[in-house]
Amino acid sequence: MAKPHVLKTIAAVRKVRAALAATGKRLAFVPTMGALHDGHIELVRQARHAADAVLVSIFVNPKQFGPNEDFSRYPRTLPADLKALTGHAEWVFCPSVGEMYPPGFETRVTVPRAAQNFCGRFRPGHFEGVATVVTRLLNIALADVALFGEKDYQQLLVIKRLAADLAIPTQITGVPTVREPGGLAKSSRNIYLAPAERAQAQALFQALSAIATACAAGQTRVRALTALGRRVLRQSAPRFTVQYLGIADATTLDPLEIVDRPARALIAGFLGTTRLIDNIAVEPPSPAPRRVRHAR
Ligand code: AMP
Repeated sequence: MAKPHVLKTIAAVRKVRAALAATGKRLAFVPTMGALHDGHIELVRQARHAADAVLVSIFVNPKQFGPNEDFSRYPRTLPADLKALTGHAEWVFCPSVGEMYPPGFETRVTVPRAAQNFCGRFRPGHFEGVATVVTRLLNIALADVALFGEKDYQQLLVIKRLAADLAIPTQITGVPTVREPGGLAKSSRNIYLAPAERAQAQALFQALSAIATACAAGQTRVRALTALGRRVLRQSAPRFTVQYLGIADATTLDPLEIVDRPARALIAGFLGTTRLIDNIAVEPPSPAPRRVRHAR
């Protein structure tokens, strides 16, 4: 397959979409901010399995960055991204800010409950920016399925919620997190990490794994589990400053005191100036199999 075709306008995407629809082909869509890595490529690979053709978008969305965040220094690597997508995607939608937010644009999409805790508390306006751009992108692509990473677990839930609430007919599919061999979740922001910080960054996954393992072994008290995670972090990543480390219901993100249902442990914080997030599935211990008495 050749390099993907670059589409810069909504009209160009609509044309491609109409041509596909005319032949009855299914479209899968993968929205990104570029600086593509193996995590993104895994989404695109799964997109290929889910449909006949794949559209990727690359747009660094100013609305989801706070005033003191890294919008201006966020890595922009379009030529390398197009190379990485060769053989994986037919089209890449790379709109300008003006195409996405033309004069007069004022609508905002908010998903208050899903966005209220965790990153929502530390990044005011972030999920509103995400929800607004993703709603617009889903309405531009009109794809059959759109894929998002579990790496950004709260974002995935926000998007599932808005798609259901706004009757967007695209199926929203989550894809498990792709990690470095040491466990660090792949992220476009990992390039900011100095080598010593990169080693400490692995502790996020170590802390989350310790929590999941302890819970599966029978420790279901959230306080004890988060204390365990913080101990691992103190030992393995003394320079990591925690913003949050919590455990919540896996579908609503409502806080839990006892892990009595499928849950998610989520973490965020800073190594130097780099903000890192990660999460893991936490399951309560499976009930012991009941002894069945056989009548003799
Ligand atoms: P971003 O470019 O960071 O906005 O990410 C675009 C999409 O890729 C989002 O759905 C992310 O959740 C997903 N993604 C980012 N990193 C990973 C990863 N390590 N594994 C799986 N998906 C990822």
